[in-house]
Amino acid sequence: MADLETFRGETRAWLDAQCPSTLRGQDAPVAAVWGGRKWQPAHPDQRVWLERCAERGFTAPTWPKEFGGGGLSKDEAKILAQEMRALRLPPPLLGFGLTMIGPTLLQYGTDDQKREHLPPICRGEIRWCQGYSEPGAGSDLAGLQTRAEDCGDHYLLNGSKIWTSDADQADWIFALVRTDPEAKKQEGITFLLLDMETPGVSVSPIQLISGASPFCETYFENAKALKKDVVFKVNAGWTVAKALLGHERTMVAEAFGSGEGSRATLAERARRYLPGAEAAGPLPDATLRDRIVQVEMDTRSFALTMQRSRDAAKAGQQPGPESSIFKVVGTELNQRRQELLMDIAGPQGLGWEGEGFESDELDLTRSWLRSRGNTIEGGTSEIQRNVIAKRVLGLPD
Ligand SMILES: Cc1cc2nc3c(=O)[nH]c(=O)nc-3n(C[C@H](O)[C@H](O)[C@H](O)COP(=O)(O)OP(=O)(O)OC[C@H]3O[C@@H](n4cnc5c(N)ncnc54)[C@H](O)[C@@H]3O)c2cc1C
Repeated sequence: MADLETFRGETRAWLDAQCPSTLRGQDAPVAAVWGGRKWQPAHPDQRVWLERCAERGFTAPTWPKEFGGGGLSKDEAKILAQEMRALRLPPPLLGFGLTMIGPTLLQYGTDDQKREHLPPICRGEIRWCQGYSEPGAGSDLAGLQTRAEDCGDHYLLNGSKIWTSDADQADWIFALVRTDPEAKKQEGITFLLLDMETPGVSVSPIQLISGASPFCETYFENAKALKKDVVFKVNAGWTVAKALLGHERTMVAEAFGSGEGSRATLAERARRYLPGAEAAGPLPDATLRDRIVQVEMDTRSFALTMQRSRDAAKAGQQPGPESSIFKVVGTELNQRRQELLMDIAGPQGLGWEGEGFESDELDLTRSWLRSRGNTIEGGTSEIQRNVIAKRVLGLPD
């Protein structure tokens, strides 16, 4: 215990001394740090903060030190997270490298693959994207058709992926490809890693009605993938794919269900917009009070459950089908929170651009719209309920 308290004191002092003041407080850049070869920091100090944290192993606190992590125990990692929150410091790095492919390589990668890919992820040098969905294979992921033809020392890839988030910003892709078209569909799939600069790989951003292009179509036309970049075994990619989905679903649940991205609490928002609610004391509208308390209580319970799951993960337990429960609850909770925020803000929550709206009000509209995708990404809520029925409750097909 004394050791943990020493660790807490040292960590707090280090964080406080090393995080540049420009990244703290009201005027700090809100743009997240995704890293990668194409990354342009919103502020130069974001790079300073990233480099300092990476050097100390704090971008991937629980990963082994030999692969660029911090080698922290679960208790130490919890303290680090608490101290980061207490000092209101921004995460030095986010991304699919840290949350999806890194943990999957730790479980299924060879030593060479870990040595090649994990340290650059920890340093924020390589950004990853996910090549799972195809035009004809979303919920029915195992129906994917992108072909990988065995050509001796390499595979030749042909086909296309869709909804590849930020593929135009990514450096490497982890992709599911069909290596045996004759086998039962789950049994003919291989999990591959590929540099996005490989000849024959191209990306076409999909423009949404908002004008933004967070997704891409990714094409493979005779793209060469090396055999050393197969993760686990040829035709056993479905096992790796499911493990990664467990990490993805937990990450999505946590990122959106925690309510941490919101700049103000629901009650603070209500005081700002609702007549008669400015003064201290209970909000005058009992129905609204009830809705707010219910969402805040559920958020708190959810955060505690996720904390338990994080503890289990740090103790070496891999996410199982319970990640589907987290995903349903966390994403639906975020949608309830976003809808409540819109109800509270009224017309001020309907702005897209232009005068008459504060920047946090424009964020409100965007967050509400973004939350609609929460129950689709990483597998829809319907698919999660199917998984829960079969793999948690043991119900028949
Ligand atoms: C924000 C966001 C980011 C994403 N990022 C990525 C990414 O980076 N990489 C990637 O590969 N993909 C990504 N996706 C794609 C995502 O994984 C798919 O959209 C999702 O799996 C659903 O597939 P689909 O869109 O083809 O819908 P479909 O599979 O066509 O489903 C249509 C509807 O039918 C329902 N349905 C289908 N089958 C069943 C069933 N058996 N039982 C009950 N209902 C069913 C679904 O629930 C859904 O409501 C992203 C999606 C979103 C929204």
